[in-house]
Formats: sequence, C-alpha cells, structure tokens
Amino acid sequence: MSLAVVTLFPEMFGALTDYGVTGRARDQGCYELALVNPREFATDRHNTVDDRPYGGGPGMVMKAPIMEAALTGARQALGSVGDKARVIAMSPQGQRLDDALVRELARAPALVIVAGRYEGIDERFIETFVDQEVSVGDFVVSGGELPAMLLLDAVIRQLPGALGHSDSADEDSFADGLLDCPHYTRPEAYRGQQVPSVLLSGDHGAIARWRRQQSLKRTAERRPDLLAGVALSEQDRALLEE
Ligand code: SAH
Repeated sequence: MSLAVVTLFPEMFGALTDYGVTGRARDQGCYELALVNPREFATDRHNTVDDRPYGGGPGMVMKAPIMEAALTGARQALGSVGDKARVIAMSPQGQRLDDALVRELARAPALVIVAGRYEGIDERFIETFVDQEVSVGDFVVSGGELPAMLLLDAVIRQLPGALGHSDSADEDSFADGLLDCPHYTRPEAYRGQQVPSVLLSGDHGAIARWRRQQSLKRTAERRPDLLAGVALSEQDRALLEE
C-alpha cells in the first residue's frame, strides 16, 4: 500500500517504521511511507507555515496555500496512485476511528494523512482537499502525528502479509465484533493463580469453545454496546447462558 503523511515532524514516524510489526511490514514491502514536510513548501525566508487566526485569539493556524502545495507534493511522492489517494486529516472533530473504518481505509489504493499542529489547519484547505476527517478519541493532543501513527499502525496490521501466520488480525478484538479472550503463557502457576486447565488439555475443540465463551463473557461485561451489534449463534447464546 502507498502511504504518505504531511507533517511538520517527519522524524516522529520512525516510531512506526522502525519497530515491531509495522517495521517488519515495511521491510517486507507491505507498504511504502512518504513523509512530506509543509515547511519545504514555505515561500518566505523564515519558512513560515502558520499565521495568526482571523478574529484574534490564542494560537496559530496552518496556512492553506502551503498545505495545498504539501498535499500536491505528497501525491507526487506516491507516484502513479497519487491521484487516487484518499486524503484524511487527523482532527478531534472527525469521525471516530474504529475497526470498521480501519478495514475500509486498508482497502484504499493509497492514503495521504494530514497531521495538524497549533490550533489546526485553515478550514478552506479542509473543505477543498480533505475527503474525511478522522479522530482518535474525544480528547485533544498537541499534533496530528500520534493520531496519524495510530491510524497507520492499525491499517498496516490489516495489510496482507503484515502479520505472520501465527498472528492473525482476525483473532484480535473487534474482528468478529467481540473482545479477544484472555491469554496465558508459562509458568503454569503464578502468584497462586493457575492457568485455566482447559488450555492445558490439548483438546482443541474444548479450547476453542472456552475461548469463544470468554470473548462473549468479556464483551458482555465490558462492552455490552458491542455485543448488541453482533449476530449471536445458538451456540453463542448457550455459551453466554453458561
Ligand atoms: N483546535 C483544535 C485542536 C487542535 S490540536 C480543536 O479544538 O478541534 C492540533 C492538531 O492535533 C489537530 O489539527 C489534529 O491534527 C491533531 N489532533 C488533536 N487531537 C486529535 C484527536 N483526538 N484525533 C485526531 N487528531 C487530533
């Protein structure tokens, strides 16, 4: 997948590209990430990218013409798929990021993510060029870089080959609408707590049943809102009753 981010702090994205699953996925060519700094498109000798807000008040606003030039630079960096890229701006005012949106974005041919700083970006840039604003939650952080990395990490996990065989995204929370089951590893006894015996039984049918039951139980206890949206089978209902 071809990805680009418009950001004043491209160095931050090493946290995504250099570590763990997302680092390996990049080494394997699952995605390419272009980082485009609006600062390079500034036209004055101070490399100004922001200005004071019309109407007064605190903070600064990222300038529309410079963001437009940076977006064009990002499309160019994406090459032939640049024109087809979906443009996402990270914003606390956007659609809340969830598993369904992540899977939808992972199917796009290419993405350009725009990370804001300061008070945000001139509204006219957003209206003209941004397909969708996406939020990572009802709180405000200092810039769009960490939200963009959250989105990108979640999208990259969905790309074919990003996770090894043993580590399928389909078993994670939300994939089937439920929370994941609890996990255990050695030692068998830890601070007086035993690993559930069914997991030591070698009975794969019983283990699958127990895991499904735990998923259902956790979701019912912690996220009844999720459970309401899942089509439960007869067997699921029986497991929940138990
Ligand atoms: N004045 C804005 C917040 C600006 S924070 C407001 O109140 O709506 C600066 C930048 O951080 C934003 O442009 C956005 O890119 C990013 N950001 C902050 N909180 C975010 C969130 N919850 N989700 C996604 N991006 C966020």
